[in-house]
Amino acid sequence: MEFTEFQLHPQVMSGVVAAGYMAPTPIQEQSIPTVMEGKDVMGLAQTGTGKTAAFVLPILHRLMTGERGVVRALVIAPTRELAEQINEAFAVLGAKTGLRSVSIYGGVNITPQIAKVKRGAEIVVACPGRLLDHLNQKNFTLSQLEVLVLDEADHMFDMGFFPDIRRIMGYLPRQRQTLLFSATMPAEIRRLALEILHKPVTVQVGTSAPAVTVSHALYPVKSHLKTALLMQLLQHTDTDSVLVFTRTKHRAKRVGEQLEKKGFKAASLQGNLSQNRRQEALDGFRNGTYQVLVATDIAARGIDVNQVSHVINYDMPDTADAYIHRIGRTGRAARTGDAFTLITDDDTEMVRAIERVLGARLKTSALENFDYNVPAPTNNQEFARPPQQPRPRRKPAEPGKGSGPRRPSTSPAAAGAPAVRAVRPQTGNRQPLGANQQLKRANTNNRRGR
Ligand code: AMP
Repeated sequence: MEFTEFQLHPQVMSGVVAAGYMAPTPIQEQSIPTVMEGKDVMGLAQTGTGKTAAFVLPILHRLMTGERGVVRALVIAPTRELAEQINEAFAVLGAKTGLRSVSIYGGVNITPQIAKVKRGAEIVVACPGRLLDHLNQKNFTLSQLEVLVLDEADHMFDMGFFPDIRRIMGYLPRQRQTLLFSATMPAEIRRLALEILHKPVTVQVGTSAPAVTVSHALYPVKSHLKTALLMQLLQHTDTDSVLVFTRTKHRAKRVGEQLEKKGFKAASLQGNLSQNRRQEALDGFRNGTYQVLVATDIAARGIDVNQVSHVINYDMPDTADAYIHRIGRTGRAARTGDAFTLITDDDTEMVRAIERVLGARLKTSALENFDYNVPAPTNNQEFARPPQQPRPRRKPAEPGKGSGPRRPSTSPAAAGAPAVRAVRPQTGNRQPLGANQQLKRANTNNRRGR
């Protein structure tokens, strides 16, 4: 199929040409005509399938006629990175249209966002929390909205955004076109779709199957040798730009630091970073300053890095869908990519689950000249925080209030990894965080910035 068959507005078509798209992807073939007809769409597609352009192009086409200077299209996305990426797609594909798109998310000054919308934007791409703040404060109105897109709805649900989404609905005209995209279709998404979509047409690409160009390989390894194996993989493979996934923020940070120490051009991306640091890490990865980006699933959401040559799962994800989503970042569009997964004995069931989704067995690989038999160090705490020192007590603790000395962390993360740095040097009077405090802090930080 050719893009010309959609009969997009010529100024929108010039964006397609400028972006270098030769032919529509399957999700675009299905979605673009349906959206152009004004129908609601339930799109089942993951990152890497071309789903962004599948809604951006028909929205630009629609907005070419009608009023300018008022917000007529709203895209809601779970993360700042995804919002920026969608905003960028509107800018590139709509470069010749004169239509203006503004991105809105937390963690940055709210005032310039208000000014930009008020200067006359037709498109807003927003994360739910900050958008709700704007709407509550009546900074701008969405009363003339014509099209709403909810992108990566499954991630918005995972991140606890559905109550915000439902509140945002209260600010939107009932008469509108709604498009909902999600990589998976759990019951909660089905329920939301029933609430907000009107007679939707379902478009779907490859259920949950990842891009065919990706080759997958499993690397069985003892957990204390994961970092060493990762380094060997990075050294011995023609890895241009690698996204490494870890299970926790702490592990992302530590693996990033260890790679850096060994001379790799590496950075980590985790929820605790300020917006500037995140942007610096992302920009550095895009422009090649960093060859390796270590991230958690949440931090990596929405990353669109065209040149990702490899995804390495340092830790196995929790679900087969998360695996598919991770590797959606490599082998995208027509490129080939590789997905390596370091697996331990605990991951056998998840491997089977992924193989069921892929409909194929995953091949198991081993690196030559890698010593898989190095025994685990006795003091096995690569990812453990140093044990909390008992604080001097002001008054005797009440029985049952649990303020006694903390035991060293016994988290699963702590249990199986090598002792690269068992005890962190302490400075001044600052006590390192205990595992519970960290968890609490992590939870607080996970309430994404408004
Ligand atoms: P997405 O699934 O929207 O994250 O898109 C994945 C990547 O594919 C992005 O880098 C897009 O620029 C690119 N892309 C989208 N549509 C096409 C197309 N029709 N031909 C080639 N690349 C495309």
